[in-house]
Amino acid sequence: MKVLVINTGSSSIKYQLIDMSNESNIAAGLVEKIGEAQGRIKHKRFINGQEEETVKVLPIENHQVGLDNVAALLTDPKVGVIKDKKEVDAVGHRAVHGGEKFNHSVKIDNNVIQAIKDCVPLAPLHNPANIVGIEVATKIFDHAPQVAVFDTAFHQTMPEEAYRYALPEKLYKENGVRRYGFHGTSHLYVSHAAAKFLGKKIEDFNAITIHIGNGASMAAIKHGKSIDTSMGLTPLEGLIMGTRSGDMDPAIPYFLQSNLKMTFEEVNQMLNKESGMKGITGKNDLRDIEDAYEKEHCPIATRALEMYAYRIRKYIGAYYAAIAAPLDAIIFTAGVGENSPIIRNMVCKELSCFGIELDESKNAPRSKEIRDISSPNAKIKTLVVPTNEELEIARQTKEVIG
Ligand code: ADP
Repeated sequence: MKVLVINTGSSSIKYQLIDMSNESNIAAGLVEKIGEAQGRIKHKRFINGQEEETVKVLPIENHQVGLDNVAALLTDPKVGVIKDKKEVDAVGHRAVHGGEKFNHSVKIDNNVIQAIKDCVPLAPLHNPANIVGIEVATKIFDHAPQVAVFDTAFHQTMPEEAYRYALPEKLYKENGVRRYGFHGTSHLYVSHAAAKFLGKKIEDFNAITIHIGNGASMAAIKHGKSIDTSMGLTPLEGLIMGTRSGDMDPAIPYFLQSNLKMTFEEVNQMLNKESGMKGITGKNDLRDIEDAYEKEHCPIATRALEMYAYRIRKYIGAYYAAIAAPLDAIIFTAGVGENSPIIRNMVCKELSCFGIELDESKNAPRSKEIRDISSPNAKIKTLVVPTNEELEIARQTKEVIG
């Protein structure tokens, strides 16, 4: 069975074709600059352990044209991996916001499309793009069932005390203002992979998952289920991110508007695009900040990294208390979590009182494998688990269509 996984943005489509017989990735790519004068498709196929890349530059007026080109590349005799698009057995869509309607993945029908539309006010940038992706893929792969896998679904097991904000009741009842959380597919994937790695049943597994990439969030996992997460109604809440502030005094927007006369669009732009590591250092890529810290001992970079790690430590403490049971593991994942021994060290170095302790000889080496980096004395394992959201979407797609 082959599953095409699609992640549609407002001007882009990311895709992967996964052969579920051995869960291998056979093709992947990115369509970008849809709607601009010149678009671009980067297409890769993976054959006999080799990666071959094809780049096409052409005008891509809309998503339909973009996905038509993807279908043509996948079936191209020279650069493709299948003979006919009918070999795509199912399409799995990354859907960002499922609100309270979806606590699991679903086969897409008109009711599901309507429900995703109903959630547009909660994710005005993402859900409209997801709907376009679904409509276009349904036309092009009309023989294949389509499945929606929601970023919010895994966190629907949070108890009310964790997901409610202390705001007037009617904001929740009438407008859906509550914590939803995101990156759910990743938190689910890494927690299941970690439980398997440690030989524990997922129902008995307690962990704190730390997904730190450009966007960043943590989750408290008790008995294999998400009981709290750091992103909220939107992805702005929680950890310090590449360009997002994360937690702050909620009166700051009011301060900015009343004293600095900023408009609410300017405030929104600043908190989402100009804050976080970029706001503190001028750079959002952690590799640049780590370079400045290591090579130049730059005090701004040092402070930014310490702030970044401190926020994660605070959440570890909070989530340990939220789980209130023996913890099996803390799990680092995503771009920073998988690749930055500096951040892992900064986060863990003062947590030995909790039984969290790293072995630097295991933390420092680079690897793409799941691994235990804790010292033999540690009571709680510290793991690095490479995330694979596309594979999780493909697995759920397969499960939903049975
Ligand atoms: P996204 O949230 O966009 O999916 P990723 O999970 O791919 O992002 O993470 C991107 C981030 O990972 C970037 O900020 C990048 O700097 C960081 N990153 C990647 N490699 C390293 C590395 N070797 N050391 C530190 N940070 C890294």
